[in-house]
Amino acid sequence: MSRPAGKSKLVRGAQGDWEVVIGMEIHAQVTSKAKLFSGASTEFGGAPNSQVSLVDAAMPGMLPVINAHCVAQAVRTGLGLKAKVNKKSVFDRKNYFYPDLPQGYQISQYQAPVVGEGKVLVDLPDGEIEVGIERLHLEQDAGKSLHEQHPTMSLVDLNRAGVALMEIVSKPDLRSAEEAKAYVTKLRTILRYLGTSDADMEKGNLRADVNVSVRKPGAPLNTRCEIKNVNSIRFIGQAIESEARRQIAILEDGGKIEQETRLFDPAKGETRSMRTKEEAHDYRYFPDPDLLPLELDDAFIASIAASLPELPDEKKARFVKEYGLSAYDAGVLVAERETADYFEQAAKGRDAKAAANFVINELFGRLNKAGIGIERSPVAAEQVGTILALVAEGTISGKIAKDLFEIVWEEGGDPRAIVEGRGLRQVTDTGALEQVIDEIVAKNPDKTAQAKAKPAVLGWFVGQVMRATAGKANPQVVNELLKKKLGV
Ligand code: MN
Repeated sequence: MSRPAGKSKLVRGAQGDWEVVIGMEIHAQVTSKAKLFSGASTEFGGAPNSQVSLVDAAMPGMLPVINAHCVAQAVRTGLGLKAKVNKKSVFDRKNYFYPDLPQGYQISQYQAPVVGEGKVLVDLPDGEIEVGIERLHLEQDAGKSLHEQHPTMSLVDLNRAGVALMEIVSKPDLRSAEEAKAYVTKLRTILRYLGTSDADMEKGNLRADVNVSVRKPGAPLNTRCEIKNVNSIRFIGQAIESEARRQIAILEDGGKIEQETRLFDPAKGETRSMRTKEEAHDYRYFPDPDLLPLELDDAFIASIAASLPELPDEKKARFVKEYGLSAYDAGVLVAERETADYFEQAAKGRDAKAAANFVINELFGRLNKAGIGIERSPVAAEQVGTILALVAEGTISGKIAKDLFEIVWEEGGDPRAIVEGRGLRQVTDTGALEQVIDEIVAKNPDKTAQAKAKPAVLGWFVGQVMRATAGKANPQVVNELLKKKLGV
């Protein structure tokens, strides 16, 4: 694994430095209209138990039927993770008892998953690291137990029972909360580009189990604890940090880490014990006799490979090469496919660096302020393109471009027509500007005197002229005229 040199990721304890070792299991809900083994709908937000087939309810004698679309989605994701797709995989029963699991087992994959080893490149402020993917397997989600809706009963909603999940297991390659957060962010970007999961943590269709252990640098791996079902990227970071501190405190005290499953409590900002960790044999895995092994042929895999979109890493490299953007700016723009498309449309035939700056600073700033995503931006890429063209041809100044953007945001319309209609054209007419300059110079004899000795005062005069012209003066022309007038 490559890791940027020189940056220590160690955590300081009372007795020296510790290294935090993190591996993640991400459960991502597969984008599919129907469930993994039944035709019931996967629509979010339906009335309780309105999307439950006889298979999902585990009625006696009902048989699961594999949903080919979900298999294709898993293969697509595997190819997007540069992973090995296994042409033969097996569905197993993972046996455990829980009220929201009517079958008494989850259909999952154990020894033979559909996707094997792959890798994800993760962007960090100080460089890039490669995180290994151990495997990706398909499995069913469980239903939901609702404990708060009735004073003396727990209720069960099976709408989610049987929905397809991809469990994506990383190698223990992550070394800090920051790296773990960046990894999940990158994985989410890839899944969205592929269209294989909405990966929306708020809706619960991306959930993270985080494995954390600590060790002295260079020492063998220590016992780990698994923090279950962390449901936001911020909480992932907090959970790792608090869990690492807890383990370091125990070890420095001469204690021993017990392998267990823990829960993160966002209110307290700490993890607490949930149960001692089960071993695989506790689940009594065995191949599901109701399902044949899953066999994929080369043509099926090849047709999916042929339909893959340009992925974020490739797009980023292209933006750097084709548009001359910095790696950082390119990374920001490709984080969402919609943003990358927007940028490319705005930049078409124009100064791409100016377009990138405008999209990253003006557009993103305004979207953040409004609390909306780019897909709901009231200013279209074409309109931003026109604003950039107006600046490039000298019709408006950079300052007016920002005002113009705000007008288009609030009122819509053609930027070019707005410039004409509101008289926003840049003033380059030296006669008109000289008149303004003469007035300012006459009113400020002290500053005029200073300007000769202190050239920095020139900037003050430029500011005054820009103010007097409501930002419409061409700054270069003003500069020239002022220099002549003040003799600097
Ligand atoms: Mn799982």
